[in-house]
Amino acid sequence: MTEQVKVDSNYPSPKKVHQVDETTLGITWTDGHESVYPVKMLREKCPCANCIDEWTGEKRIKPGTIPDSIRPVNIKSVGLYAVQFWWSDGHDTGLYPHELLRKLCECEACKKARV
Ligand SMILES: [Zn+2]
Ligand SMILES: [Zn+2]
Repeated sequence: MTEQVKVDSNYPSPKKVHQVDETTLGITWTDGHESVYPVKMLREKCPCANCIDEWTGEKRIKPGTIPDSIRPVNIKSVGLYAVQFWWSDGHDTGLYPHELLRKLCECEACKKARV
């Protein structure tokens, strides 16, 4: 059997985004990875300029200000690099690059790899 070296410089992108349960979002990636995200954590990690100070990198979301009832109301892929979330609190400026989403993945394998 010959092994083929796969030349693929493309970063994996989300193939399917689905709601796992009320508070959990799941993403199936083109490389087969199954990511899970608590939606509140995703909202708290919003990387937009309103949520993170562009200069200092400091978080502008005060801890505890995101309600447990936060939900994504719309999710759209933006170009080949990011996913945009519309949140139930009206926040819609957050573009989550695929790389960030992979870093935030809370599946068992990723959680273990992070420890
Ligand atoms: Zn934001
Ligand atoms: Zn993962």
